Amino acid sequence: MIKVRAFVHRTKISCWKCYKDTPVVYAFRPPNNKFEKEFDSKWIGAYEVTPDQDLAMGLALENKYPWYRIGRSSTMGMDVHANFCLFCDSLQGNWYVWKDLLNKRTNGIILEFDEYVDYETDIDAIIEGSPEDEKRKTKMGYSDDPNFIDT
Ligand SMILES: [Zn+2]
Repeated sequence: MIKVRAFVHRTKISCWKCYKDTPVVYAFRPPNNKFEKEFDSKWIGAYEVTPDQDLAMGLALENKYPWYRIGRSSTMGMDVHANFCLFCDSLQGNWYVWKDLLNKRTNGIILEFDEYVDYETDIDAIIEGSPEDEKRKTKMGYSDDPNFIDT
């Protein structure tokens, strides 16, 4: 198990069903296995880990945000962690929340990820072939570099 921090952007969207403004959170963890304390916007759209991959993150968010829990997504046909409308309890699709974020970014709005949840997980966030992955392989002694010294 590793201890990690997921960064959370909290905003409000108009519920697709009742049209009232309801709070939603979008959370992710950086694409590495470190306990990162400071948010870095370059992680957005760069293999960030979401609750879809990391169930432990969804559970940590569930503990913090009363409108966030696991539920049946009819569009995805499976159980997913998602935001639910505070007024009519409808599931706000993760894609819909993500699209709202992308729209804001496109319009030049700086997205604040000023909330977070710390939790433990066994999900490896390092992408095969990424610089982090290369570093790890080197450390483990898989390097092809003839000058590599195994310490
Ligand atoms: Zn609603």
